[in-house]
Amino acid sequence: MERILNYIGGELIAPQSGKYLENVEPATGKVYGEIPDSEAADVDLAVKAAQAAFPVWSKTSRAERSKLMLKVADLIDQNLEELAMAESKDNGKPIKLARAVDIPRASANMRFFATAILHESSEAHQTDDEAINVTVKSPLGVVGCISPWNLPLYLFTWKIAPALASGNTVVAKPSEITPMTAYLFSKLCIEAGLPKGVLNIVHGLGPKVGQAVVEHNDTQAISFTGGTKTGKQIAATAAPMFKKLSLELGGKNPNIIFADCDFDKALKTSLQSSFANQGQICLCGSRIFIERPIYEQFRDAFVEKASKLKIGSPYDDSTQVGALVSAQHLEKVMSYVKIAQEEGGRLLCGGQIVEVEGECSQGFYLQPAVFEGLAYDCRTNQEEIFGPVVTLTPFDTEDDVLEMANSTDYGLSATVWTSNLNRANRISRDLHSGIVWVNCWLFRDLRTPFGGVKNSGAGREGGWDALDFFTEKKNICIKY
Ligand code: NAD
Repeated sequence: MERILNYIGGELIAPQSGKYLENVEPATGKVYGEIPDSEAADVDLAVKAAQAAFPVWSKTSRAERSKLMLKVADLIDQNLEELAMAESKDNGKPIKLARAVDIPRASANMRFFATAILHESSEAHQTDDEAINVTVKSPLGVVGCISPWNLPLYLFTWKIAPALASGNTVVAKPSEITPMTAYLFSKLCIEAGLPKGVLNIVHGLGPKVGQAVVEHNDTQAISFTGGTKTGKQIAATAAPMFKKLSLELGGKNPNIIFADCDFDKALKTSLQSSFANQGQICLCGSRIFIERPIYEQFRDAFVEKASKLKIGSPYDDSTQVGALVSAQHLEKVMSYVKIAQEEGGRLLCGGQIVEVEGECSQGFYLQPAVFEGLAYDCRTNQEEIFGPVVTLTPFDTEDDVLEMANSTDYGLSATVWTSNLNRANRISRDLHSGIVWVNCWLFRDLRTPFGGVKNSGAGREGGWDALDFFTEKKNICIKY
């Protein structure tokens, strides 16, 4: 049994209640560890430690902050295999994916913001011949970072890296469903010599620990990634307290395939954008719209490939689809397979629970499901499923596909496949989403603004946007 501890004031400590929650391994369905069942008192301790660390950390030179963060990044790389295994065990994702994407991206996040602060500048405005206005940026103080289970260390570091780089001290809460790599990360921070209290990690349930971070009087800002419903609850708590808020929420993203696309590339990438990480990426394109002249050709090729995806133990290097994150989530995804059928969808492949042989026989595996014949405005096509379930819908004109693509309450990302540059520009302009990928998917440049519109969130992360979020700007007007 691996017992996780909180990281508060530079120490690994037990929750004050002495209570723990079970940590389940999705690959086997078995309990393999314990997580602190922390409470508001633990959060308060963490906030106090962060407050005590703030005066020194906020005045530590950029060069020194950068050096420490780069040391953590190096340690992540040096422990790649252990972290990838831990991520796969905690989440059910193929270890190959954790090794190639999750963990390298975590060190990249640390490096990106550690070096960005060395190149940051602020503005000055000369006001006629009368004054100079200088913009200065200061860290906010203690900030809260709350992250989800689908890309655990990847999204955890995506938040804390800009927060720390900007000179804030942090109280962070990883998902209780996948806490292991955040725990290992706390050990790496100790090894790197991060000063006590600069980063504090409190484990436990969202409504207890997350809520306590949000409603604490001394957290100045909340950076949250997770579901739209939780985002609403956080906004309701934090907005009347006038906290800065960054909300990265759910998605129901369209993947639009025109007849003039590079068919093979669109097919190969659509398979990834549908089922990578078992479809549990907020950017997955779960609604695939295909221009009518190639509808049957694309559908048949897509279904053939989807039905051949290798499902199995995430620890097997040849596995393409691992386990869903929990029994509860598998049940939720299965309920949508049923809804899709009730709504008249034709199941072209998958949708069944898979029993993997051997030690993984009790794990949470689902054969990727592909549906057609559903109305664009039915529940299956409007609600976030967050699993390996996609729908195929033919379209005739740009206007038709835009209407369908823009019809949901979400607006996180969209993908467009076409070789017509004018069309790519037109469609990108008219799609209601924060990100549009043309002829690619999840091709990330960390300098770009990342975030959604409508119910997919408020605010932008990435690049200077993230550093802006974690700082307060002040204008100093100096009269000549
Ligand atoms: P979730 O909202 O259930 O939980 C996210 C985090 O919030 C967890 O750490 C949880 O413990 C915490 N939490 C729960 N209730 C809370 C409360 N009342 N106050 C404060 N914190 C609370 O989301 P999830 O199921 O972990 O993640 C899946 C969701 O995240 C999906 O909707 C997905 O689209 C979204 N997501 C969005 C992005 C993005 O960048 N937009 C990225 C990844 C995932």
